[in-house]
Order: sequence, then structure tokens, then C-alpha cells
Amino acid sequence: MKQHLLDQAPEEWEMENGPAYRRRVLSQWVFGKRATSFEQMTSLPLPLRTELAGRYQLRSLRLARRLQNGDGVQKLLWELKGGEAVESVLIPAESDAASRRLTLCLSSQVGCAYRCVFCASGLLGFRRNLSSGEIVEQLLQAEEIVGRRVDNLVFMGMGEPLANWEVLLRSLRLLTAPWGLAMSPRRITISTSGLVPEIRRLAEEPLAVGLAVSLHAASDALRSRLMPVNRKHPLPLLLEACDEYSRKKRQRITLEYILLAGINDSEDEAARLSRIARRLRAKINLIPYNRVDSLPWNSPSPAQVDRFENLLLESRCRVTVRRRKGEEIFAACGQLRLAAFPDSSPTIQACR
Ligand code: SAH
Repeated sequence: MKQHLLDQAPEEWEMENGPAYRRRVLSQWVFGKRATSFEQMTSLPLPLRTELAGRYQLRSLRLARRLQNGDGVQKLLWELKGGEAVESVLIPAESDAASRRLTLCLSSQVGCAYRCVFCASGLLGFRRNLSSGEIVEQLLQAEEIVGRRVDNLVFMGMGEPLANWEVLLRSLRLLTAPWGLAMSPRRITISTSGLVPEIRRLAEEPLAVGLAVSLHAASDALRSRLMPVNRKHPLPLLLEACDEYSRKKRQRITLEYILLAGINDSEDEAARLSRIARRLRAKINLIPYNRVDSLPWNSPSPAQVDRFENLLLESRCRVTVRRRKGEEIFAACGQLRLAAFPDSSPTIQACR
């Protein structure tokens, strides 16, 4: 199988038939003009185009399904080479101005090894890492499909981005380098279940990408029950790594907090959560839980969500509540699960 051109950085591209400056020309075709085939690259000499076409591919994801719901959220289901599938979700900002900001939620792995008890992706188990070509192509193709640029990127789809470390770094380079897609790192957010060593490594990287940490519980006992990763990387170490990240990057991190009715929505949990957020000067993003078939968890009522939010506001935390976009098409985080398509084709059902 041909290699994806974006599985390598430009300095690694093999080009026997062209001097070094042709790499720049090739990057311009790929990232600037968004060429989808080598044939289009008419400013490159034919022998070089033929060589590249024999060695590399520019597109490897096949759009298997595209679903749109009432509030403009779109889910794109991609079939990967080899038959697995992942999803990306396009989320327009809540304001309905003509220039609505558009966020794209990317997947970084097929399935996930971390098995948070509430999450649909964990039910799949870990299948494989995506490559940087497959990650960046989710953006390129999504922009082709909607005919406009995406404003923000969040690594909140399927998978644990920090567990696919090398590929994540290469993807971030392709996305942010001036010769690449030249996105501002501030418009990119990596969400993690809390891999402490990688949070520290990311803090050392020069890239100022945003960090969101899936906290979901403010005490070790509860967090270990909900998120097995907490047994390996308990809260005190996680919070230290978060603190280091925000100090080194001079950034506020985001604490994601799913609300699970009767589990983590008590007054005591709110008090503990607010102490953590104040200590880290972090923003809190409350996420009413999106129900997953076959899992026993429920979201609290809107009134209970308000009550929890108010407790945090009263203790002077910065809080936002994520609207439940995309629920009707199972596009919400944690529901990126292929079994959501009852009439899916055999390749897709094999991913259950
Ligand atoms: N592995 C990374 C990124 C993927 S999940 C992480 O854990 O952060 C993106 C976010 O969606 C995480 O905060 C995750 O905990 C949350 N999530 C998972 N299942 C959910 C569900 N059913 N409803 C709402 N949010 C969910």
C-alpha cells in the first residue's frame, strides 16, 4: 500500500527527481492549494509527479456517511484503509451570525484503551492508532465538504490523543507550521483522560496548544471508579502536571466534567471541584452526560445541572455548560460509536 504523504514531514519526503526547493512547491500544492492528486501539481515536472504518485497517496479516508441535525452539527463517518472507521464532528458556534465559528472534533485512534466506564469509545477497546495523514486528512476533507475553513480544532473524538504521542506531535506540526496549514496553536485543544507523563512532555514542547483534562470527579476514590487511568495516574500527580502545564504555557487549562446523575453531582463534589479549579486557575466545562445505550449512567435534570453550575459560580469559578449538540445523530462526545448506525454496512458493523 502506498504511504500517505502526510505520514511524513516535508523534510522526510522521498523525491529522487527533484532538488530541495521542490519540497516547498509540493507543500504549497498540498497545504496551500489543497491538491487532491499529484496530476494537479502542474508546476512540478512530470517525472517527479509520476515518482510521487507511485510512492505516495494524498487521500486515504472515504466518507462513508454524513449526517446533519437541526442545530447544524454534522457527523462525518470515515472508512479507513483496512476497513476500520472513525468519526469527526463539525460543530458550529451557538450564535447564529453569518460568520459562525466552526469547530471540528477529530479522532486520534480507532477505539480507546482507557475504558472510562461512561464512554462509548471505550466499549470498542483499542483497535489501532491513526496516522498523522489520517488525522490531518479529517480536517482537509471536512473543509472540502463544507466549503469553508474550520476555526477551531479539538482532539475530543475517538481515542486518547496523548497515547498516540509521536503521531500527535507530527500532526500538530503539519497543522501549525508556516509551510503546513499554518493554524494558530491557540485554536487547537488536546483533550486527555489524564496521562501525566505526556502532559509533562507536552508542557516542554514549544507549541502553545490548549489542554483540556477530563476530570469528571474531584476525589481519587470516585475518579478511579469512573476512570481506571486514575489508578495509574492519581489526582495529586495529575493536578501537579496540570499546574506545570498552565505555568509553562501561561494558559488556563480546561477541566471537563461530565455530570452523571447521583454519581458526581453532589454539593461535596462541587466544593472539591471548585477548590481544584481555583488552585489551577482553570476553566470548568460542565458536560451533561449523553446517554449511551447499554450503559447504566444518566444525565441529571436541567435544574440539577443549573444547581451544580451555580455552586461553582458562587465559589468564583469560571464555568461553561456545553449544550448538548449533536445528540440526535449520536455525534456527541462519547457516542462516536459505530453501533449507532443500525443499518450500517458489514465493514462498519465489524467495528462494533
Ligand atoms: N480521550 C480523551 C478525548 C476523547 S473524549 C479524553 O478522555 O479527554 C472527549 C470528552 O468527551 C472527554 O471529556 C470524555 O470524557 C467525554 N465523554 C465521554 N463519553 C461521554 C458521554 N457519554 N457524554 C458526554 N461526554 C462524554
